[in-house]
Amino acid sequence: MQSKLPGVGTTIFTVMSQLAHDCNAINLSQGFPSFNPDPELLDLVSHHLYSGANQYAPMPGVLALREALAAQYATRHARELDPELEITVCSGATEGLYSSITAVVRPGDEVIVFDPCYDAYEPVVALSGGITRHVPLTRDEAGEFSVDWHRLQQSLSAATRLIILNFPHNPTGAILSAHDLQTLASIIRDTDIFLISDEVYEHIIFDGAVHQSLLSNNELWQRSFVISSFGKTCHATGWKIGYCIAPKELTTELRKVHQFTCFAVSTPFQHALADYIAIKPHYYQGLSAFYSKTRDYFAELLGSTRFVLTPTKSTFFQIVDYSAISHNVDTEFASQMTRDQGVASIPISVFYDAPPPQNLLRFCFAKDDATLEQAVDNLCKL
Ligand code: PMP
Ligand code: GLN
Repeated sequence: MQSKLPGVGTTIFTVMSQLAHDCNAINLSQGFPSFNPDPELLDLVSHHLYSGANQYAPMPGVLALREALAAQYATRHARELDPELEITVCSGATEGLYSSITAVVRPGDEVIVFDPCYDAYEPVVALSGGITRHVPLTRDEAGEFSVDWHRLQQSLSAATRLIILNFPHNPTGAILSAHDLQTLASIIRDTDIFLISDEVYEHIIFDGAVHQSLLSNNELWQRSFVISSFGKTCHATGWKIGYCIAPKELTTELRKVHQFTCFAVSTPFQHALADYIAIKPHYYQGLSAFYSKTRDYFAELLGSTRFVLTPTKSTFFQIVDYSAISHNVDTEFASQMTRDQGVASIPISVFYDAPPPQNLLRFCFAKDDATLEQAVDNLCKL
């Protein structure tokens, strides 16, 4: 059969997690926590499972959950959302991304992404007949990544239909400032370009920085699909409960796809999350402090290795440079390290179009101290 996605193989997250499994290695590759969700949330899931909430949820999501999210975003970003018409519960952020990209992109449309780029965007653009244009983030002397807005501006064309943003950024931890949002607004002001903002790490941001959601900017919000997920926030990546927030006209188009992608999302989990937010409306507030400690501890441990660290401003990922250890390409080095040192990571070059840096790996530090200690013990031998 002639493939619709000839250049696409198996996602790096599956490849590296499988290799970690096969080698019995410590898996710091795919991003998932080693912690369980709050027992109170688990009890609520169990309650709803045994109380009969086991049939189809409404297509746009359980209304109580959408109302709880509307209340949260009104407080955090001063944005009054209509839970009926502007919030859709999706099967993880992944489905929200798929449905929004598919709703917007037509054959021949150009879509801009920032490299290193999370791998779930470009294949969906291709399935819709769109063309992805890659704008690399710039890297300063400290190794920190940021958006070069001038370069973005130069990449726009009459065919540009969509820009996909992902801040807090996976894999680099880069974040946007309020000034960045204003710059973006001024660049696209006289265009019809849509925005998709993947904000799944919105609650994991360090050193007192504040997450700048596209929802918080009046001008950008009018043309945005803002996507998030409970996976990272609730230590529940396996539940695949995400959501997409967009103005009414955009939500209407999103739901035309969503209803035939998965129709509706797991009912008991939605009810449990709605109750949980009602009981603990600030459930997400301790997350940045929690991961900030883990980030610092992991960085301290890595201090006794030959890796050079890029400061991490958000997410639960640490980028390291291994030039002092090897000149092998990163895909090979990551595989070899999984086999020989028993620690799996993600090679960064796979998130680039061209030319990728060849000496960077990503570690996920959302793990208990003992796991991180054991991993770094192994890495010290390099
Ligand atoms: N976008 C980014 C940037 C991610 O890192 C992830 C993984 N959490 C996703 C989307 C997918 O989220 P979900 O597991 O909710 O589909
Ligand atoms: N978002 C996760 C990561 O960056 C992976 C999710 C997946 O495996 N699809 O590691």
